[in-house]
Amino acid sequence: TIEKFPSKILRKKTAPVQNFGDKALTQLIRDMAETMYNAPGVGLAANQVGLSLRLAVIDAAWRDGDDKPDLRVFIDPKIISKEEPIDFEEGCLSLPGVTATTKRFNRVTVHYLDVRGKKQELSAEGLHAVALQHETDHLNGKLYVDHLSALKRDLLLKKYKKAKQQAP
Ligand code: ZN
Repeated sequence: TIEKFPSKILRKKTAPVQNFGDKALTQLIRDMAETMYNAPGVGLAANQVGLSLRLAVIDAAWRDGDDKPDLRVFIDPKIISKEEPIDFEEGCLSLPGVTATTKRFNRVTVHYLDVRGKKQELSAEGLHAVALQHETDHLNGKLYVDHLSALKRDLLLKKYKKAKQQAP
């Protein structure tokens, strides 16, 4: 199950991954990917499924089954450069039913570790770049609502609480 706002684990900075090459890690990634695709979502951070680990999965290519899946695993991602500020309409699986426009960057370069613990670098743009910013925030205990003005955030959270109450 996916942790929903205001779950406390979403606000905690996540811990480093240590079991590289472990079957448990492979299984966790598989489970997270399944949860993400079923939701459906573009990305999922480990703390969203209740595990405080610096690990996220992203598939920015996947839509409603038309595109080929392109699952990417990011362990301990760090954004080292961002370019081209954009307004982006953003949502989060931990805040279902609401979206808001945030200030993001259209191009980012990220340093991260792969499943073997090897250092990697990747440059991404568009949805993939925004997903990387969103998931990196998650791993640092941050949510996209933190990027909104106090007024916009209050309005959004009010709407969210209302939608939550009405949900079955
Ligand atoms: Zn999210």
